[in-house]
Amino acid sequence: MAKLLEVNNLQTGFKNSNDTLKVVRGIDFHLEEGEILGIVGESGSGKSVTALSIMRLLHDTPGEILSGEVNYKGTDLTKLTEKQMRKYRGKEVSMIFQEPMTTLNPVLKIGRQMKEVILLHTELNRKQAHQHAVETLESVGIPRAKDIMNEYPHQLSGGMRQRVVIAMQISCNPSLLIADEPTTALDVTIQKQILKLLKDIQKKTGMGIIFITHDLGVVSKICDRVNVMYAGEIVESAETRDLFNHPKHPYTKGLIESIP
Ligand code: ADP
Ligand code: MG
Repeated sequence: MAKLLEVNNLQTGFKNSNDTLKVVRGIDFHLEEGEILGIVGESGSGKSVTALSIMRLLHDTPGEILSGEVNYKGTDLTKLTEKQMRKYRGKEVSMIFQEPMTTLNPVLKIGRQMKEVILLHTELNRKQAHQHAVETLESVGIPRAKDIMNEYPHQLSGGMRQRVVIAMQISCNPSLLIADEPTTALDVTIQKQILKLLKDIQKKTGMGIIFITHDLGVVSKICDRVNVMYAGEIVESAETRDLFNHPKHPYTKGLIESIP
């Protein structure tokens, strides 16, 4: 398998008046094409900041990549200008957040939002984009996809909203999808459905997925390999089965013991 993503010595921090708080402290990891890699760790361990660093979405926070490389198919994303990066976001690398409304615009119809993304990144015309949007919504298990195109996000349940976000983020066939706690805000039954959906999407499209969660139980269901993150560092990295059978780091052992 070829390497899709290689993160080398990534350090990210937040500047305040006289200091920089380093929250990602020199991490290294890689993702093969078509692999589902978990990043697991307790709240505040730096998982989301890692994801936002890869996506170059730190400017609003305002955090800053202090050092390191994020090589995506051989291009170091940390070196790109914002304008160049916009060509990657949504088309090459996409991200799903815990809360669907982080992505969706509450005052625009689903169809319009889907079409905007598709028109931005493909050569399709408006009619084709409409059709592609409907088909993508259907592909993620949304019933009445044609009707839903005319609805606003608030008219859907939380689980359906997350499906819409997944549809939006895979609509332009990215090679890498980062899912940051995509099921944490959902009911348990819906969680299972969304996990299965992501796994099915991976199988069908061959895309690589980074699956971020604080829940090691979820990792065991979906990930091929896992990075365990603690206080801004990756303290252990292993194939999922090996991690559960032979955890090495005391923190990992504690995580496994705490699974109900
Ligand atoms: P996780 O996703 O693992 O729960 P985060 O990556 O969100 O953790 O956060 C890692 C650390 O970075 C935390 O200690 C958090 O307080 C800090 N942090 C995150 N966002 C900001 C911000 N906008 N300003 C300052 N510190 C932040
Ligand atoms: Mg987080």
